[in-house]
Amino acid sequence: KGEQGRDKDKADRATSELVLDQRTRMILLKMIQRGVVSEVHGAISTGKEANVYGAVLEPEDGGRPIQRAIKIYKTAILVFKDRERYVTGEHRFKKGVNKSNNRDMVKQWAEKEFRNLKRLHSAAIACPEPIMLKSHVLVMEFLGDKRGYAYPRLRDANISEEGTENPWRSLYVQLLGIMRRLYKVCSLVHADLSEYNILYNDNQLYVIDVSQSVEHDHPRALEFLRMDIKNVGDFFRRKGVDTLPDRTIFDFITAHDGPVAEPELAQAVEHLYETRPAADGSAEAAAAEEVDTEVFRNQYIPQNLNQVYDIEKDAERPTDELVYKNMLAEKVATKPEAGGSAGESEDGASVDDTDDEESGSEVDE
Ligand code: ADP
Ligand code: MG
Repeated sequence: KGEQGRDKDKADRATSELVLDQRTRMILLKMIQRGVVSEVHGAISTGKEANVYGAVLEPEDGGRPIQRAIKIYKTAILVFKDRERYVTGEHRFKKGVNKSNNRDMVKQWAEKEFRNLKRLHSAAIACPEPIMLKSHVLVMEFLGDKRGYAYPRLRDANISEEGTENPWRSLYVQLLGIMRRLYKVCSLVHADLSEYNILYNDNQLYVIDVSQSVEHDHPRALEFLRMDIKNVGDFFRRKGVDTLPDRTIFDFITAHDGPVAEPELAQAVEHLYETRPAADGSAEAAAAEEVDTEVFRNQYIPQNLNQVYDIEKDAERPTDELVYKNMLAEKVATKPEAGGSAGESEDGASVDDTDDEESGSEVDE
C-alpha cells in the first residue's frame, strides 16, 4: 500500500499539468513504471477524437533524454459513431464494434492506429514509430527537433524557394510515391490524407493519423483512395504545382506491376508527366483532361470483383476505360502477400492489452 501510494504520487507529479481521468492516469503510471516514459508534458494538439502530448523518457543509465509522443483517445464521444463506416466491412474488425460501449470503440481505434503505424514503419514509410499501446493510450516516436518542437504539419511548413523550380513539386512527387507504397506494400489506403495529417521536416514527409486507414480490400477503399487523391491534388494546386489528373494517379497507385520503392517511384511519376495527353500543352488536351477528371470523380467504383464482372457483362466496355481495370489485373496474377515484413506485424503481437480493465483497481482502493 505504501509503495502504491508513492507510485500514485509519482504518476500525479509526472502528469500533474494534465486533466486526465483516473483510468488514463493509471495507464500512464504503468508506462512510467515500465520505463516507457518518465514524464508527460503539455498537449501538442487537442482534437475532437484525441489529444497528443509530448513526453520524455530519461534513460536509467543517464543517457540523453528521449522525446516521445502520446496520443490519448477520448472516450464518451459521439464523433466515433460516424467513423463506423471505416470499420464496417473490414475483416480485421469482423465482429464489429459494440456501439453501446464507447470505451470499446475508442480502444479499437487506438489499436487500429497502432497496427497501421506498425505496418507503415515496417514498410519504411516515414511515420512515427509505434512504441506501446495500452487501451486508448498510444505511445509513439516524437517527430520533432531536439528542443521538443514538433515538426510542422505540411499545411504550416515553410518551404524555402531556392532554385527556379517550385519546391512543392518534389514534395508532391514524394507523396505520390508514399501513397503507392502504402497501397502496394502495406495494403492500406490512408482515408484521411491531407496537409493536416502529414508532417514536414527537411524535405521529408511523415504520414500520421492512420486510425481510420483501411485495407485495400475494404468495401470502400477505392472510394477513400479517390478522395485522398483529390485532397492531395487540391492542396498542391493551391501551392502552384502542376498536378497530374486524379485518374492517372489512381492508376499509378493501384497498378499491379510497377515500382514500389524510390528512386523508381519518382521516375515513374516523371514518366507520367511526359506521357500525359496534356503534355503537348494544347488547350484541347487540357480541356479533355479536365472533363475526364470530372467523370472520374463521379464514376461508380465497384467494391469487389463480383461487381466488376457484372458490369463487364452488362456494359461490354473495353476494360481500359474502367476505373477498376487494376482490380482485374490483380485477379489474373497471384494475390500478393501484403508486402513481406509488413504483413508480419499484422497481428499486433506487442499490443499490450491484456489486463486493461483491471489496471485501475490495482491502485485505487
Ligand atoms: P487527430 O486525430 O487529432 O487529427 P493526429 O494524429 O493527426 O490526431 O495528431 C494531431 C497533431 O498532433 C498533429 O497534427 C501533429 O501536429 C501532432 N502529432 C501527432 N503525432 C505526432 C508525433 N508522433 N510527433 C509529433 N507531433 C505529433
Ligand atoms: Mg489529424
